[in-house]
Amino acid sequence: MTMHILWDIDGTLIHNSKDGAAVYLEAFTHVTGTEPQKFITNPHGQTEGQILTALLELNGHPATMLDDVLAELDARTQKLLETGYVRTAVVGGPDALRDAGGRGWTNALLTGNGPQHSRVKLTAAGYAEDDFNWTNSFFGDRSPDRHHLTSLVAPILGEQPSVIIGDTPNDGLAADSARIPFIAVATGAYSVAELRDTSALVVVEDLVAGRDDVLGTIAELAQRG
Ligand SMILES: [Mg+2]
Repeated sequence: MTMHILWDIDGTLIHNSKDGAAVYLEAFTHVTGTEPQKFITNPHGQTEGQILTALLELNGHPATMLDDVLAELDARTQKLLETGYVRTAVVGGPDALRDAGGRGWTNALLTGNGPQHSRVKLTAAGYAEDDFNWTNSFFGDRSPDRHHLTSLVAPILGEQPSVIIGDTPNDGLAADSARIPFIAVATGAYSVAELRDTSALVVVEDLVAGRDDVLGTIAELAQRG
């Protein structure tokens, strides 16, 4: 069975952006009628479902408003793309996808973003929709946390081997709870040293310097099956 690579997006395939949070706050404000007064301090490695639910509750709104905020988020992210939204791919990201595809592996997503926001972010960074298998990808817009997200993988993939590539200790913990191997890249908010404290089979500075380590590790996992 072919290796199924589950790529995280933020900090892994594209660089984090301070402006990236603006669209969440706008959707929140539109739905609740007021700007949030309290904010999430560390969103890295959290799912959209988790961040938006926490933001609602922190500001005295019911968590049941999540669906409305997500619908508004979809509308606003689509508009972003139509107005020339730009994100930046990490160095070596597009090449890593190509190399993995060339070896017969499947590139898919496991991300805290919803499908629509994922498409917008990736295409705004120059990736193509066709770079990924969207059917067997996993999106966290309705997941309460990353453990919930990774628990969705086994029922879909069954015995097919998979690996998660991510940039936060949270990605590693969620991979552990689903017994999925984890590879860490330090292109997000965490350093190589911090990521070495996770279960990662390999930690790389980026997908250029760490290209051979990442591909070699996946090849070993693929062989093991
Ligand atoms: Mg990330």
